[in-house]
Amino acid sequence: MSRRKSFTSDHDMFRTSVHRFIAERIMPFHAQWEEDGRVPRELWREAGAAGILCPNIPEEYGGGGGDFLYTAVVIEEIATALATGVTGFTTHSDIVANYLLHLGTEEQKKAWLPGMATGEVVGSIAMTEPSAGSDLKAIRTTALPDGDEYIVNGQKTFITNGFHADRVLLVAKTDPAAGARGISLFWVDTTLPGFSRGKLLDKLGQRAQDTAELFFSDMRIPADCMLGEPNKGFSYLMGELVRERLMIALRCAAALEAALEWTISYTKERQAFGKALIENQHIRFKLADIKALTCATRAFVDRCLEEFMAGDLDADGAAMAKLWASEATSAIDDLLQMYGGYGYMREYPIARALTDVRPNRIYGGSSEIMRELIARAL
Ligand SMILES: Cc1cc2nc3c(=O)[nH]c(=O)nc-3n(C[C@H](O)[C@H](O)[C@H](O)COP(=O)(O)OP(=O)(O)OC[C@H]3O[C@@H](n4cnc5c(N)ncnc54)[C@H](O)[C@@H]3O)c2cc1C
Repeated sequence: MSRRKSFTSDHDMFRTSVHRFIAERIMPFHAQWEEDGRVPRELWREAGAAGILCPNIPEEYGGGGGDFLYTAVVIEEIATALATGVTGFTTHSDIVANYLLHLGTEEQKKAWLPGMATGEVVGSIAMTEPSAGSDLKAIRTTALPDGDEYIVNGQKTFITNGFHADRVLLVAKTDPAAGARGISLFWVDTTLPGFSRGKLLDKLGQRAQDTAELFFSDMRIPADCMLGEPNKGFSYLMGELVRERLMIALRCAAALEAALEWTISYTKERQAFGKALIENQHIRFKLADIKALTCATRAFVDRCLEEFMAGDLDADGAAMAKLWASEATSAIDDLLQMYGGYGYMREYPIARALTDVRPNRIYGGSSEIMRELIARAL
């Protein structure tokens, strides 16, 4: 693979430090955190001190002051190491903090962003509800005005960082009769009365990443925690999706590359019938197919990354990148097969890759929704 054109030596230096942090401060403990269902809260502060949180938030708000390529580095390093317990770092830094950056007033940004960069404040985004995921405009959670407050009632589910979250970027209906035009965004303090969390959700994979249900019962929140203008939440959400989908595509491309590399090494070492597995034509050809798929995925995702950096990536392009790269990771099942029984043992990364990479085809807009979006523009 030739050197990737977008990245400079500064990005490479940052990559080395992120790589080291993950290798030293995360991976030795990851299996235990999978048992616990979450990473320790202190890890967030360590990551903040190491400059891994909010790398693309401007320095004046406490962030790293870098471009989106620094975000890409963190996403790729987490994916390559399969450090999926901290998938929520990128939700926090590169989704939630970017909403605050793009929509917040100067006062809000100064008040809210520095704590996110240090890891003092953990953020999550709460859109999905038990009865509304893909069809976001069907959410039922309401935030109704009452003097200089809003009263929130409702329930959210599958929320990444939901257990640790100090603040939640809440998507709620402020005008329930107006459908998509009645949705607003709030930056909600989870210490206020009326907020509660369900237990950690028991997931197939990403077991060290906390994912939780959130409940809001007559919760009074100050009006000044609204982000942006009232009833414009749906269009704000759509506006941020290009970056979010590109992030998922980057993650999937890196995860597939890593899984292929582990498997090539394994099939060169493992002997059966007096020769290495890779000497069997069936396995060699399958690996060749997946190598070509991986390279095509990398080329397409990096082209989308270049377009994004130039301000040219549109919603269709991001949907295609997300669809292609996340679907390409279904090849991990074929790679796992080459390990035989070992592939089914969680001590082998390929086993965890199968379960931990899987939700990329579901969240951030499922593959079916991506197809729908792409098809609409045909
Ligand atoms: C690990 C994990 C972490 C998550 N983190 C978050 C988070 O931090 N915040 C958050 O808000 N949400 C989060 N989610 C939720 C995620 O965004 C939703 O699960 C996703 O949007 C799908 O919604 P749903 O589960 O309600 O499925 P549904 O919308 O009920 O869809 C069910 C199936 O039907 C398909 N489908 C739906 N509509 C159509 C259609 N028109 N045509 C064809 N097929 C269709 C879908 O693609 C899917 O396959 C997370 C989910 C997971 C698994």
